[in-house]
Amino acid sequence: PSAGETILEVDAATKKFGGLVAVGDVSLTVRTGEILALLGPNGAGKSTMFNLISGVLPVTSGTVRFLGQAIGKLEAHDIARLGMSRTFQHVKLLPHLTVLENVAIGAHLRGHAGILRSSLHLERREEDQLLAEASRQIDRVGLTANKHLLAGSLPLGDQRIVEIARALAADPCLLLLDEPAAGLRFKEKEALSDLLRKLRAEGMGVLLVEHDMDFVMGLVDRIVVMEFGQKIAEGLPAEIQANPVVLEAYLGS
Ligand code: ADP
Ligand code: MG
Repeated sequence: PSAGETILEVDAATKKFGGLVAVGDVSLTVRTGEILALLGPNGAGKSTMFNLISGVLPVTSGTVRFLGQAIGKLEAHDIARLGMSRTFQHVKLLPHLTVLENVAIGAHLRGHAGILRSSLHLERREEDQLLAEASRQIDRVGLTANKHLLAGSLPLGDQRIVEIARALAADPCLLLLDEPAAGLRFKEKEALSDLLRKLRAEGMGVLLVEHDMDFVMGLVDRIVVMEFGQKIAEGLPAEIQANPVVLEAYLGS
């Protein structure tokens, strides 16, 4: 995609779980070289929105377009192959594998339907290519010195960055991050912000879900705020910060 092009277009997405409207008629767009934050109190529907975009859950109604293609009926691995990578709120690294091995798993997702099937049948040459690609991504995120350490031995902030490297290894143009700053120390949040700024400058589109308002305010280009499954506000960080409806949602939670 070219600079400033809209790569993700969600139009009136709705997801119902039985009688519960987890996401109701929410629309948003993301361009290349843009960081959009999806903000909102717990239970607002942020993770569900991510699952709709990345194909983990089918929409009840509405459309999701990625790179001009309707992806509402595609499987998650097909969407990943088109160039959308995500991290999960609760799925973490494999702690007993090295950083390099964890990231190589991400490199592998781009070309194949499943990790399990393919990891059992890797050709030697293919394995070398995956490790080389993983190594490049680890350098890109600044963790070169940690390549051969066990992922579980790293501080949480570095583990989060390895998760991003793993997502990058699938060669995405859109990165979806579910609560990347959760549980991090101040310095770790700064390192994470620096990395996301660098990726943005390289043209990456980033959609991140956050509960932490302070983290997103100095970083992102635009914010969409959800509460109880609805979009309650959208705008620049300064506009969102001054929006009484948003303050009410946060104070009330
Ligand atoms: P957030 O990520 O903003 O905290 P979620 O998207 O996880 O919010 O949840 C939104 C609402 O949908 C919550 O009320 C939650 O309990 C409900 N929910 C999420 N996933 C499911 C599911 N698989 N089945 C039933 N209800 C769900
Ligand atoms: Mg969530």
